[in-house]
Amino acid sequence: MLGAAGWLLAPHAQARAGAAPDDGWPPHAPVPGGVARLSLGPAATRPVARSGDAPVLVLGDAIEWTALVGIPLAARPGEAEITVADTRGGPPRRVAYRIAPKRYVEQRLQVAPGTVDLSPANQARYERERAHLASVMATFTEPLPQFLRMRVPVPGRRSSSFGLRRVFNGQARNPHSGMDIAAPTGTPVHAPLAGRVIDTGDYFFNGNTVWLDHGGGLLTMFCHLSAIDVKPGDALQPGDRFCAVGATGRVTGPHLHWSVMLNRAMVDPALFMGA
Ligand SMILES: [Zn+2]
Repeated sequence: MLGAAGWLLAPHAQARAGAAPDDGWPPHAPVPGGVARLSLGPAATRPVARSGDAPVLVLGDAIEWTALVGIPLAARPGEAEITVADTRGGPPRRVAYRIAPKRYVEQRLQVAPGTVDLSPANQARYERERAHLASVMATFTEPLPQFLRMRVPVPGRRSSSFGLRRVFNGQARNPHSGMDIAAPTGTPVHAPLAGRVIDTGDYFFNGNTVWLDHGGGLLTMFCHLSAIDVKPGDALQPGDRFCAVGATGRVTGPHLHWSVMLNRAMVDPALFMGA
């Protein structure tokens, strides 16, 4: 009897205790720069969730909906929440979660003074670009992506990791919000996931840059390019080559800077690349 019961229960126990079935979504990593997977339970229609002002990607089906929440690198560890709209017009439901601390490596660099303290002209240019990029980053479109697993856009050596806390000439700067992949100028860059080009341009820090929209607030950004072979509106399939590695913008050598953004938070691209 016990043996039979044990045998019958084993598959369920394994599913709970072992690795989660591969749904092509990032793993639950509730840390600054990570992604929280929050269960929203069953509902007849897809819940509408927000993290702060930003709409949140919600995937699943009527049996079980899951919010995939990008957590900014600047988020403080501790209690956090998203809100879920009430379909009958009542107040939104709060779904709480806990952001665990994560200590990223610190990197101290000495660079030419002019690149840390911007000239008035460069400061003005940077402010204009920041306002434009804020509108790009607010993109949230449908259809929603169902499969979020990304392929590496360029084969090469990851030359510094996501989240590095950078100190230029003794002054703390924003942490490194992407993955750097070293490769020679001209190396083709491939779309990591199906998407649509939403912005191309030449920016002060990022150099020649392409933004892709994968739907549902999932965006990717590719910087320091030597060539851009697409324009806004172009649709890409996974693996399509659309630009080339370069050394434009503020860089010390040719490499691809690749960022992944979810609900307007830059998160670790490695979370989307599978085991
Ligand atoms: Zn970088």
